[in-house]
Amino acid sequence: MSIPVDISTRAATLTNLINEYNYQYYVIDNPSVPDAEYDRLMRELQSLEAEFPSLLTPASPSQRVGGVAASQFGQITHTIPMLSLDNAFDEAGIAAFDQRVREWLNTADKIEYVAEPKLDGLAISLRYEQGVLVYAATRGDGSVGEDVTTNVRTIAAIPLQLRGSDWPSVLEVRGEIYIPKTGFEALNAAQVAEDKKPFMNPRNAAAGALRQLDPRITASRPLTMYCYGFGEWVGTAPPENHLSMITQLAEWGFRTSSESQAVSGLDACVAYFSAVGERRDALDYEIDGVVFKVNDFALQARLGSVSRAPRWAIAFKFPAQEEMTVVEEIEIQVGRTGALTPVARLAPVFVGGVTVSNATLHNEDEIARKDVRVGDTVIVRRAGDVIPEVVQVVMQKRPANSVAFEMPTLCPVCDSHATREEGEAKRRCQGGLFCEAQRKQAIKHFASRKALDVDGLGDKLVEQLVDADLIHDPADLFSLTVPQITGLDRMAEKSAQNLVAALEQAKHTRFGRFLFALGIREVGETTARSLARHFLTLDALMATAENSLIEIEDVGPIVAKRIVTFFAEEHNRQVVARLMTAGIDWPVETHTASDSPLNGKTVVLTGTLISLSRAEAKEKLLALGAKVSGSVSPKTDYVVAGSEAGSKLTKAEALGITILDESEMKAWFE
Ligand code: NAD
Repeated sequence: MSIPVDISTRAATLTNLINEYNYQYYVIDNPSVPDAEYDRLMRELQSLEAEFPSLLTPASPSQRVGGVAASQFGQITHTIPMLSLDNAFDEAGIAAFDQRVREWLNTADKIEYVAEPKLDGLAISLRYEQGVLVYAATRGDGSVGEDVTTNVRTIAAIPLQLRGSDWPSVLEVRGEIYIPKTGFEALNAAQVAEDKKPFMNPRNAAAGALRQLDPRITASRPLTMYCYGFGEWVGTAPPENHLSMITQLAEWGFRTSSESQAVSGLDACVAYFSAVGERRDALDYEIDGVVFKVNDFALQARLGSVSRAPRWAIAFKFPAQEEMTVVEEIEIQVGRTGALTPVARLAPVFVGGVTVSNATLHNEDEIARKDVRVGDTVIVRRAGDVIPEVVQVVMQKRPANSVAFEMPTLCPVCDSHATREEGEAKRRCQGGLFCEAQRKQAIKHFASRKALDVDGLGDKLVEQLVDADLIHDPADLFSLTVPQITGLDRMAEKSAQNLVAALEQAKHTRFGRFLFALGIREVGETTARSLARHFLTLDALMATAENSLIEIEDVGPIVAKRIVTFFAEEHNRQVVARLMTAGIDWPVETHTASDSPLNGKTVVLTGTLISLSRAEAKEKLLALGAKVSGSVSPKTDYVVAGSEAGSKLTKAEALGITILDESEMKAWFE
């Protein structure tokens, strides 16, 4: 049958692409497309070759073990070839495999298979002579691999000398070298910290680490190994089946997988696949599927191999966790605290078991490092419950007219300035009191107990008020009316009246509380009080420059900058002005930090106070610059003892600390 021109052109294109991707993946450890794309191209080529058998040549990538031994390493010819595995992507594929095996063996009986996780690392062959490691070789093209002995010697999990006794005179052990997930995360964090490109996945990281010219680099990477097979076995009789071989290798000192188990028949294979799939995220190594192997070696020998893979084994692959798609837009999300996060809007793609149409781009450094642009084709990864992320751009597919992405300098929600402070990964919208994205958070904080303490205004009610469009910023709270509130969830007229009354009461506050309520980043209660004591008025604080702020107790350079940035934002100033117009006030602060007799003193309250509550006493003491502590120590300056004071009083007496009663304390407040 003659082959239509378009078919042979397509086959040639596929062959070229697959060969190029093999080179990137196996030789330079730097793939540019996800495995799913590679597998699609390979399947397309295989189906063309099945339809037009004359396309099929021994040189076709479908007939060969991918990879080639790179020239910078010495070469080692495998005495027994290292093959790849055939793949199945669904139950029907496994059923077809089981069917083929039974037909070949001419049996209707259930076949006993060994099921094992399919580790995603790289294959290695270790040769031992008289129990001593003589060389280690990568798979290469299956016949000739790379001599990586020096590097392999640095891997602690690989015995240089076998344990136990009765070893064969020659033993080739085969298995997978990989990097555990935890090691991978640490390795990639270090790569980023050193401004180096992170690895796409643990498989590439492992391959890159093993195929280093400098063994010290290999030694510094967290490589380990699981063994699952053998090549040559000379001098003694090998075990009769796969499972006993695994047990024997473990006795000689090799790591083997505790997940390996016998399964009989198709249903048991499928059950094992689902069970391992469920545990997948909890395993500390990446797996991309499970492998089923005929357990009995005599049956394996009868089945034999085709050019690329044995007939007695198959890999059942999980759905891909990496896929390729196009970035249609890059949008900026503004978080509750004002942080700007770029998000890629993607052409929907099925990855990691779900359809994904958004992926986080984290921050502007990350975008710049990956150089992600609108219109780019990217590799998206979604593993387990982890939020999908863009792993890298497929540069070959970049449109000619693409432009680098730039982060906006204004908040896309409220137009306030979005600035990035030193040491921070993200830009932040500075319109904290005004920005719609931060609204709920800002108002909840404003009304909270340690801020304006609006009785009855909890988080749920704030959300309702905002969602009903009744308030947009904290200042709006003070124009709420009873009819507006009545009818909201759990808000009858009485509760609405109570809320309006509570708001009225909350207007009369203290300067420190008010400053804390504004939600300026890093300005906690203590800093807010220090500022209040120091400045006495809001105008004085707002007029102060960054370098004068630094001189105040509890105010470091970062806090100083945040205060200045906050008040520099016109939107915030407008809200503050409206709050003052609404009638917020506080008693004039009379004591500055330096002239209060209690400034810096540590006071402990104990026993029951009669004319005021502990909370009130604490607040007044704090306003005078005291520190209020819960326990007595030699550092305590005063203990205020109410009635029925107990062990704290006894301890204070023992330490000789000044003890005052309630009326003496009240004298401080006059
Ligand atoms: P494979 O990874 O599908 O399966 C064979 C390999 O599985 C073996 O060589 C061995 O290393 C490993 N393995 C793990 N656990 C095993 C176990 N318990 N028993 C036996 N073997 C086990 O095949 P491959 O030939 O190594 O690689 C082909 C695959 O690599 C493709 O399907 C594709 O996903 C990926 N690939 C991707 C690109 C790319 O550009 N993204 C390029 C080439 C290959």
